[in-house]
Amino acid sequence: MRAVILPGHGGPEVLSLEEVEDPDVGVGDVLVRLEGVGLNHLDLDIRAGVARIELELPVILGSEGVGRIERVSPEAAGQWREGDRVMVAEEIPCGRCEVCVVGRQNLCMQGSWLGSTRPGCYAELIAVPADAVIALPEERPATDWAAVQAAFGTAWHMLITRGGLRAGERVLVNAAGSGIGSAAVQIAKYAGATVLATAGSEPKLARARELGADLTFDYSDAGWSDAVLEATKGAGVDLVYDHVGGDVFVKSLDLTRPGGRIATCGAHAGETVPLDIIELFRAERTIIGSRCYTRSESETVIELVAAGHLDPVVDSVIALDEIPEGHRRLEARAAFGKVVVTPQRLTSGAPAAGPDVQANHE
Ligand SMILES: [Zn+2]
Repeated sequence: MRAVILPGHGGPEVLSLEEVEDPDVGVGDVLVRLEGVGLNHLDLDIRAGVARIELELPVILGSEGVGRIERVSPEAAGQWREGDRVMVAEEIPCGRCEVCVVGRQNLCMQGSWLGSTRPGCYAELIAVPADAVIALPEERPATDWAAVQAAFGTAWHMLITRGGLRAGERVLVNAAGSGIGSAAVQIAKYAGATVLATAGSEPKLARARELGADLTFDYSDAGWSDAVLEATKGAGVDLVYDHVGGDVFVKSLDLTRPGGRIATCGAHAGETVPLDIIELFRAERTIIGSRCYTRSESETVIELVAAGHLDPVVDSVIALDEIPEGHRRLEARAAFGKVVVTPQRLTSGAPAAGPDVQANHE
């Protein structure tokens, strides 16, 4: 099969399209022919060597993918059939440790991760345990479903499960133009909140309003946080959804009302920030860490997409050999929503891989 390999850390140019052995279908595994693969910022961090994840190179990158089951191991025969449409879970938890048994599998430290500690989705095929795939409906193209898991799963976990967002609350979504930002705007709106959103350009702000943001603020304008405060008549917001970090995190914490909370899952703009502890406890603010999502949260967001309550935001669809370009697009923050790869396609227009692969009608 073809796959995009990370042989060593560096810029997008180190990513290498190669012909490699098809994955082994182990005991209890299913083999999935991938039809849509989402690019994530985590992929860029792993590529650059700044993700703080121990891994062995070379590795096939790519944490999220969807496709159809091509082969089922005998052990998984009762569970899945060839041709079933599935999403591959990004994380494969151990299922046995103390966090796994209480349903917080996203905190499992003994599991493995696609595209870092096990081969990922920048490939035509992937083999995973039968429990690590989730059924998808036939509606919508694969490229839409490839934009669902990390974006909506992360946003759901952070806003609803961890952030406890309730109807009628006021929420600030930072960097609403990103995959998880555009997903958060939709989930916050679905939850009945008033949504304030920031982004770095007017076109992105306009898109955020289309997705349901009630008020938008340009964070390239130095006075954006004053504008948020003014828009809330000095009251601030109940919950901040931040994945930016740095100065944006510090200002956002100040924007939470007394008793308010800020949830964080990213820190590209700065991983270490000053914290005024006095302000924090006097205002009884809560800082909430949030780390990916569980399988049942993935199933929840799949149902909401299928029912039309949430709409995956696809920035662009690219071929397997355009992944370095996709990384550059994310790095330049030029995308609105997800960059999605169709792994059975090359820019030459060439080859759908296997004989039984449908043409890329999406
Ligand atoms: Zn576990």
